[in-house]
Amino acid sequence: MRNTSSRSAMVLILTLVFFAGLIYHTVNLVMHAEEWASQPTNAHLSDHNGLAFAGKILDRNGVALAETVDQKRVYHTDEEIRRACVHIVGDDSTNISTAVQTVYRSELTDYSFVFGLGMPDSLKKGKDITLTIDSELQKAGLEALGYAKGAILFYNYKTGEILCMVSTPAYDPMNVPDDIETNPYYEGAYLNRTLSAAYPPGSTFKLVTSAAAMNEIPDFRTRTFDCTGSVHIGDDDITCFEVNGTVNYQTALCVSCNAFFAQLATEVGAKKMTSYAERMGFNSSVTLDGVTTAKSVYDMSDASVSELAWSGVGQSTVLETPINMAMISAAIANGGTPVKPYFIKSIGGSQKNSASLGRKMMSRDTADTLRDMMDYTVKNNYRLYGRFLNHDVCAKTGTAEIGDGNAHAWVTGFCQNEDYPLAFAVVVENGNSGINVAIPAAEYVLDRAAALYHQQ
Ligand SMILES: [Zn+2]
Repeated sequence: MRNTSSRSAMVLILTLVFFAGLIYHTVNLVMHAEEWASQPTNAHLSDHNGLAFAGKILDRNGVALAETVDQKRVYHTDEEIRRACVHIVGDDSTNISTAVQTVYRSELTDYSFVFGLGMPDSLKKGKDITLTIDSELQKAGLEALGYAKGAILFYNYKTGEILCMVSTPAYDPMNVPDDIETNPYYEGAYLNRTLSAAYPPGSTFKLVTSAAAMNEIPDFRTRTFDCTGSVHIGDDDITCFEVNGTVNYQTALCVSCNAFFAQLATEVGAKKMTSYAERMGFNSSVTLDGVTTAKSVYDMSDASVSELAWSGVGQSTVLETPINMAMISAAIANGGTPVKPYFIKSIGGSQKNSASLGRKMMSRDTADTLRDMMDYTVKNNYRLYGRFLNHDVCAKTGTAEIGDGNAHAWVTGFCQNEDYPLAFAVVVENGNSGINVAIPAAEYVLDRAAALYHQQ
């Protein structure tokens, strides 16, 4: 009797374990089958990694950037456009983890839970995906960066549509280079630097320092500062490019006086600087169209006073992503709150995104003051070098020291022309000059945007 009851208990336990396992695996199958089946290691995907019946990827004007012809995946006929778009579109593999052809492969291939990947060909109809990018502006972005490594991002700060998102080094998805893994030129080629890379921001960060200082330092708008070419803070000299003489908040941004902004950062203090930086997107990622970006970093928790001073001019350990930089400019253009950027217009004919506001980054008054400061900087500095003559732009450059090697060249800003209201961030790795390298790259894309969108 005793034996029988212990046996029944054992059978019961085993039965429960069996059903628990069955439920676990069924749930797991339903939730992940699509993901598993789309892995390029799946032998059934030998037909171009499952793209043999995939839908098209189109730009904003309906230009096919990727499509399947006779079960073979082909990309745009212009090699330059193929390379310019590779980080958004992707290639046959899933090496570019943030590309549409990786993230949205199951939508493109119309994975079916019933048939899996074995859906009869007659029933297969992968969805088309329409992007917000303009292949002509993509091409301009690639030409602007040339052989340099870097990132260019332009987005409409009224609608949120990304029109140009180029990352270099790029490569041709139709002819993936054999040495892509070993040639230093292709280092980081699978990375979309606009979303997934963070760089020292240099003087572009003075926008953040200004936002903090104008709210925390009562005489910010009236004080003057005598720049002698450097200022001693803590145990370090914060140096300027040249002796800037007497500056105020507006002329200090215009000539990019490091001493002035380093001083402000120490007056605001690490805690408040961090809080303003975090409101402006630092220390958190954003997710756009299923892609989670890298984080911009502002961490002064263990910083010395001289490190805090350097952070005020975007040096020390400060890091910035191009997407976050463009969103800060978009917020300034938009009265303090950026419209969220996105790059997918529709999937299978249904609209995926529309204009929606992101998190508020600053007050309207702060945004308007920064706009005036950037406008003043363009008119009284960059235009004297012949930059931005043809566009109504508010901007700030940066030349970020990186220890070894030439500094990274940055520019961020926004264009106030009604026909192409674009916020932008451009970074040219080792470009060495915001004014001479990053601005011309930005202007090259703006010129093309003006030619494409200017209403006669
Ligand atoms: Zn100075």
